[in-house]
Amino acid sequence: MATVLIIGAGGVGRVVAHKCVMNGSTFDRIILASRTLMRCEEIQSELPKGSLEIATVDADNTQEVIDLIKRVKADILINVALPYQDLTIMDACIATNTPYLDTANYEHPDVAKFEYKLQWEKDQAFKDAGIMGLLGSGFDPGATNVFCAYAQKHYFDEIHTIDILDCNAGDHGYAFATNFNPEINLREVSAKGRYWENGKWIETEPMEIMQVWDYPEVGPKDSYLLYHEEMESLVKHIKGLKRIRFFMTFGQSYLTHMKCLENVGMLGIKEVEHKGMKIVPMEFLKTLLPDPASLGPRTKGKTNIGIVAEGLKDGKKRKIYIYQIKDHEECYAEVKAQGVSYTTGVPAVIGAKLMVEGKWSGKGVFNMEQLDPDFFMEEMNVQGLPWNIREMEC
Ligand code: NDP
Repeated sequence: MATVLIIGAGGVGRVVAHKCVMNGSTFDRIILASRTLMRCEEIQSELPKGSLEIATVDADNTQEVIDLIKRVKADILINVALPYQDLTIMDACIATNTPYLDTANYEHPDVAKFEYKLQWEKDQAFKDAGIMGLLGSGFDPGATNVFCAYAQKHYFDEIHTIDILDCNAGDHGYAFATNFNPEINLREVSAKGRYWENGKWIETEPMEIMQVWDYPEVGPKDSYLLYHEEMESLVKHIKGLKRIRFFMTFGQSYLTHMKCLENVGMLGIKEVEHKGMKIVPMEFLKTLLPDPASLGPRTKGKTNIGIVAEGLKDGKKRKIYIYQIKDHEECYAEVKAQGVSYTTGVPAVIGAKLMVEGKWSGKGVFNMEQLDPDFFMEEMNVQGLPWNIREMEC
């Protein structure tokens, strides 16, 4: 039994709060804290009275997080605020010896670049504090890393190639909206593409490489090569890997809007002067776009995220596809959130549950594929993310 402190009350924070309450035998006290109390109050009102405590915190300020951790006596902290807060929250966990978990790697607000470097540099401090830091326990990163570890453990002697395939076939009825934080989402998809082959990173223009993949229960979809953070850790931890790529589906309407916004400068992250005021175009765009949390009741269709791994087993070639399909409307019915928030929030809760139960343990910072995948895969089936596995022709 543990006291869990959740930081961040957006789309993902809502799912994490609901699912922690549903896992009351693991989390006996749950506190949801965010910058804006109203967001926490809204989520609290959806849950049984007394099941969720709320608080405000500015997680850019390490001391505020330290004070909150001490006040609530947290046994574990789930960070589902924005990637900008990862380092300050990790520092607060180190200062208070509190196990830490997040779902996205650190980004600097003024630099559209994401990498694990600064979080991995905290490994020794986590070891010295005697605590575990679990990085990227969402779906991708997160479940996709675990799928790779599961493939490595049970299906291959050597994995040579991995394609991560992320399809959101949900329709929210808006011409343009993002299904998680618009700033983070648009920074990710408007950046240059990158994949890893034969020991080096190869850069592509944004959306330069496209393949059509036939997603089970969804159908064929245009899937574009992007850089995605889990590749950085997977190239370190998967034996014999020769190539890894990440593909995500986008509809034409999304791509046309994004190109147009980019062309007029609305995706800019540097301040501009507007009528004597300084504004950041991307932040202003976020204000105009629908709040991802509001997409829940409107979104229909499914997500399908998985990995295709190819390699050798007992000297023979093998290719497998591990994937998870989730229906947006089912997610909303269960936790009042759309599928992208659900598929991120549930793995965060599973990661925290395994840490609290001691099934995943260690001192230092860890990426998901470094831990035994079997516990996580079992929990996915129990917690609402059942997965499938298919042998494919090589
Ligand atoms: P939202 O923008 O919906 O929510 C973010 C929340 O964090 C808001 O409640 C916001 O508060 C709060 N917050 C922001 N800054 C601070 C701060 N300084 N102090 C305290 N709270 C703060 O984002 P999502 O819920 O969509 O995403 C949450 C995280 O999940 C992100 O890091 C995202 O990158 C990650 N993610 C990971 C995925 C994966 O598969 N691994 C997929 C999708 C998302 P306020 O309302 O005041 O702004």
